[in-house]
Amino acid sequence: MEKKGQLYEGKAKKVFATDDPELLIVDYKDDATAFNGEKKGTILGKGVINNRMSNFLMQLLEKDGVPTHFVKELSERETLVKKVTIVPLEVIIRNIAAGSFSKRYGVEEGTPLKQPSLEFSYKNDDLGDPLINEYHVLALGLATKEDLDTIAKYAFHVNEFLKAYFLKLDVELVDFKLEFGKTSDGTIVLADEISPDTCRFWDVHTHEKLDKDRFRRNMGGEAEAYQEMMRRLMGQ
Ligand code: ADP
Ligand code: UDP
Repeated sequence: MEKKGQLYEGKAKKVFATDDPELLIVDYKDDATAFNGEKKGTILGKGVINNRMSNFLMQLLEKDGVPTHFVKELSERETLVKKVTIVPLEVIIRNIAAGSFSKRYGVEEGTPLKQPSLEFSYKNDDLGDPLINEYHVLALGLATKEDLDTIAKYAFHVNEFLKAYFLKLDVELVDFKLEFGKTSDGTIVLADEISPDTCRFWDVHTHEKLDKDRFRRNMGGEAEAYQEMMRRLMGQ
């Protein structure tokens, strides 16, 4: 598969065209940002870990019935994916209160939720990815009702699968963000990535944070935390 021109450089990945119009190559960087790009840094080795971890999880999910954009891992940092039109929503699922949910509703971090919750943010950097509800999504024409129902169904399915999978590794899946897109034939698939950049992972016994919150909150040890998640998940 030939790598052609760069289409986009995001905060964590670069996206390249290929000689197949239906396929893209994503290239994972070590760059880390937080607070809509205000805080910048690097986490050594993050690109390799996120690429491999995301591909590993997407393949498990695919087997469990969730269509994904994953096609083939090309190298440590590069993966061939199906080109999709991204639905401009961050789909956030939560099992335990943390981060913006704790702040917004005045719930102490670590409080288990009575049932998993789903919320959408409008993917728009200029607006700071504001929280958006289903009526707003429909009113703005960002997705159809049918798409939203499919997305919610897949997102809760991903949660049940990953929650159980990580628990066996002594990891609590606190919350996470998914992105979905549409392939040229109109199929909704899970896209982007699933990694310590996009999930909160806590050690089940010590509640130690094993994710990007170590970077966001200047706690240190972020590279080691990513490595520990990789070790638990893939034994390396
Ligand atoms: P950001 O755009 O937030 O800085 P990244 O650095 O991760 O994020 O850039 C990757 C970009 O590629 C994101 O905008 C994401 O929505 C998009 N993307 C992810 N998977 C696909 C795909 N399969 N097809 C098209 N775009 C994708
Ligand atoms: N998240 C993400 N990208 C974003 C915003 C959130 O991957 O742009 C993830 C984040 O890692 C966490 C979950 O979504 O696992 C919920 O994040 P929250 O809304 O609490 O936001 P934060 O506290 O990170 O601002």
